[in-house]
Amino acid sequence: MEQEPWETAGRRFIDQHVRYDRYGVVDLEQTARNAHIEVRRELLSHQQATLAPFSKGWIVRIDEMVTEKQEPFIFGHELGHIALATAGVPFFGLSAQQFQLAEAVCDFFSAQMLSSLYGD
Ligand SMILES: [Zn+2]
Repeated sequence: MEQEPWETAGRRFIDQHVRYDRYGVVDLEQTARNAHIEVRRELLSHQQATLAPFSKGWIVRIDEMVTEKQEPFIFGHELGHIALATAGVPFFGLSAQQFQLAEAVCDFFSAQMLSSLYGD
């Protein structure tokens, strides 16, 4: 399968899964439901969030210390990893360099998702 550019895949993922409320703010609950993500609030030791695939979708664990204000960006970042995986970029076995790039892409994805540019 030929790989499409991640920008295109990311944009399509946003269109398909991300939901905004009438004020143009990302509706995290609906978006999670749409993308088959179960969000769990847990005490994580060294990370703000973790992502794990499971049979029906994905589990995003968000650290209990994450504030309400930080949560959308952190959730969006994890959603970026899911979008990359959906676009065929492997989730496991990345080199350190690929991982760093993926992290930057996911931050960018999150910023794009949160910008009202993509809202209705
Ligand atoms: Zn990440």
